[in-house]
Amino acid sequence: MRDRAPAKNRRAPGRLRFAKLARTSTPATFHKVTAMRTFRTPLAAASLAFLAVIGTGCSDTASEPQAGTTSGPADVVFTNGSIYTVDASRSWAEAVAIRDGRIVYVGSDAGANALVGPDTRVVDLDRRMMLPGFQDVHIHPIGGGMEARACDLNGLTTLEEYLEAIETYAREHPDEEWILGGGWSMAVFGPGANASKELLDRVVPDRPVMLTSADGHSAWVNSRALEIAGIDAGTPDPEDGIIDRAPDGEPLGSLQEGAIGLVARHAPPADLETRTDGLRYAIDMLNAYGITSIQDAHVEEEDLAAYRALDQRGELDLRVVASLWWDREQGLEQLEGFERLRDRDTGGRVRASTVKIMQDGVMENFTAAMLEPYLGQGDTRGIPMVEPELLKRAVTALDAADFQVHFHAIGDAAIRQALDAVEAARAANGNRGNRHHVSHLELIDPADIPRFRKLDVVANFQPLWAFADDYIEELTMPFIGPERSRWLYPIGSVHASGAMIAFGSDWSVSTANPFEEIEVAVTRMGPKGETNEPFVPDERITLPVAIAAFTINSAWVNSQEDVTGSIEVGKYADLIVLDRNLFDIPPGEISETRVLLTLLEGKPVHGDLGSL
Ligand SMILES: [Zn+2]
Repeated sequence: MRDRAPAKNRRAPGRLRFAKLARTSTPATFHKVTAMRTFRTPLAAASLAFLAVIGTGCSDTASEPQAGTTSGPADVVFTNGSIYTVDASRSWAEAVAIRDGRIVYVGSDAGANALVGPDTRVVDLDRRMMLPGFQDVHIHPIGGGMEARACDLNGLTTLEEYLEAIETYAREHPDEEWILGGGWSMAVFGPGANASKELLDRVVPDRPVMLTSADGHSAWVNSRALEIAGIDAGTPDPEDGIIDRAPDGEPLGSLQEGAIGLVARHAPPADLETRTDGLRYAIDMLNAYGITSIQDAHVEEEDLAAYRALDQRGELDLRVVASLWWDREQGLEQLEGFERLRDRDTGGRVRASTVKIMQDGVMENFTAAMLEPYLGQGDTRGIPMVEPELLKRAVTALDAADFQVHFHAIGDAAIRQALDAVEAARAANGNRGNRHHVSHLELIDPADIPRFRKLDVVANFQPLWAFADDYIEELTMPFIGPERSRWLYPIGSVHASGAMIAFGSDWSVSTANPFEEIEVAVTRMGPKGETNEPFVPDERITLPVAIAAFTINSAWVNSQEDVTGSIEVGKYADLIVLDRNLFDIPPGEISETRVLLTLLEGKPVHGDLGSL
């Protein structure tokens, strides 16, 4: 099962009471950010040579720019643009020149002219905005892509649509022994109702069906699948999961957490081709959103094979840092296996240098680990998935072996345990520069906010979740109360504390569209007009901060800030061109932005130079 964070299916508008409200105007308290426009002066050839050298200086960088010529005409020159470079002074430029996949000039149109030769392609940006490619540092591209290519229920909003999609898929795939897929939301079944086997039996009576929920924490199966797995009224629940049952013990057709495995182990495993097909689907989608680098938040050995296969064929149009999955059934002995995979599967655009530790569950089933009990649930405080003392030892050992640790932590106790573990590692090892980061960060105890900076831990938020939808209003706030709710997704406070914030989508749990995520980070309102009041408005961040979180800061998380993440001479030409300037539009329109062109190392991977 994938690590899926909160059961937060943003694609089920049926859940959203405000879905039909028109987008409201910008709140009066929101001040448009004015950007300081400064232009770089053309760099001398000596500086270019110097930058080309330091571009290869970082030993843990995924892949390094090829040494190219440092003089002569450029391959491509973009002129007349609004180029937001995201360099240290957040400067703007008019022109960018590219040679051999790298940026060789950033500055004024006049300066760029000097690099135009007879074969140089000159592209007039017509004042359009250019940014560095986005880097999504928490995403599940292979699983999400496979799901989208299988029986995909994402985006459907009624039970009738689900059943029709399943029936159609089964009819169009007569040779598939199992009908697999997912993306359903519990909310679609209605209050008190279940994802029942009878519903599936109606449309697929003869073949086994197993469909995972959008959050990955449940599976919906039919009678044939239960029969193949040998699950009946007499089957006990596994230790780490629940078989949903009728009062007489009869399985209903939905399985929770560890119980999914009882059926899943009988389904044919995804082969390499299925995985690479899913990955290809995801890459196309991500490139179209302007994403050129990712951190895959849950990678198994078979996924690494898919990444390497595409990379070796020259089809991996994405830089990838892979988070190897920490198996909670094992202890420190699994370190050896991680080292073997890191050695074997790092190369080209892939680096298997991170270990993912899932420290708690999710709020809505009270498995997120909390410092204080959930309201109205007795003494329930959720479950720390890794015993905190073991977590300290594990993180210390991983850090000593120079792995980056990527935590999943939702509740305030899990977040504290993650920080405590890094603190223990720092005490034992010093700061080895391994750039540990914590994802999700739904509820942070304010006392822990200063610790991110102090411990040099990156706060990896999924900003799309930071508005008051039903998940927050109905499934979260009633169970944690108003005082704690103030500290839900405190992105602004963490940023103000001086800590580094980075962004990821957690696709396919929710959209991978960075513009929707940036809009919520800036407005704390639903990107499609779902809400008309900002949620904890003090936690809004400015547009430049949000852009940095998706570019240079995420590049830092992926240890490639010396070659990506900003538009600077010597870096890869991972660049995107937008249909509007984000600084010139009301924040409520950011989510509507389209990417016209995405370049990876100077090569168009979405759109083409001629279409601008
Ligand atoms: Zn995730």
